[in-house]
Amino acid sequence: MFVDPHTHHFVSNYSTLELIRDEGFKRVFILAYIPVKPLHLSTLVDLFRWLVEVEPLRFKDLGIELRVGLGIHPRNIPPNLEGFKDLEDWLVRADFIGEVGLELGSDDEVKVFSEMLRLAKEFDKVVIIHTPRRNKELITKKVIKYVVLSGISLDRVVIDHISREVVKEVIDLGTYVGLTVQPGKLSSDDVVNLVRDYPELIDRGLVNSDCGRDPSDPLAVKKTYTVLLNSGLGLSDARKLVSDNALKLIK
Ligand SMILES: [Zn+2]
Repeated sequence: MFVDPHTHHFVSNYSTLELIRDEGFKRVFILAYIPVKPLHLSTLVDLFRWLVEVEPLRFKDLGIELRVGLGIHPRNIPPNLEGFKDLEDWLVRADFIGEVGLELGSDDEVKVFSEMLRLAKEFDKVVIIHTPRRNKELITKKVIKYVVLSGISLDRVVIDHISREVVKEVIDLGTYVGLTVQPGKLSSDDVVNLVRDYPELIDRGLVNSDCGRDPSDPLAVKKTYTVLLNSGLGLSDARKLVSDNALKLIK
């Protein structure tokens, strides 16, 4: 049984979802993100309605447990944040907050990210945080700074898309660590090597696919499980990385 704790499967077609179900995926998390900068805040309201009101029915039909994350991704900040209160009414209905974070680290991004952290804390929700491909070290440091400033409980935080350059810092911070197996991010072998070098990841790592519209493998979590077992990792430790940690994080 597998869990994929970071996907954008709301853009996946039905046969992809049938495939992951048939391959043993019991639960998936979907995180709010659209590949275009919204012109209006109301675009996000409709996105949130789609994820909260429409997608759960599709997944229920398929027999996959769905957990829905809502939030403003740093690439999805509309030019005008008037009406932000309308979004809060949706965020409170989410299973968790995500995906949020920083891409370039601009003042606007910091303002929105800080607000997302504040709301996650206020609503007592887990928050899943994006880190970018570019300037990984610099921006991850900035993410860590605002996580700490927010005062949110660190066992309610996932810092995602972690690479070897920043893994030590995130482990030392004490949050969960998202390990994304996707072209341009980690390979399954990278995960094996990271887990070997940092055994703390066994209890805190969340292997995920980030599967959505970009090139990605909907079965990345399952394939990584096989590679972890082949590398000699014990069954129960491997299970933590591909299922148990995520099940524990969001009931
Ligand atoms: Zn994502």
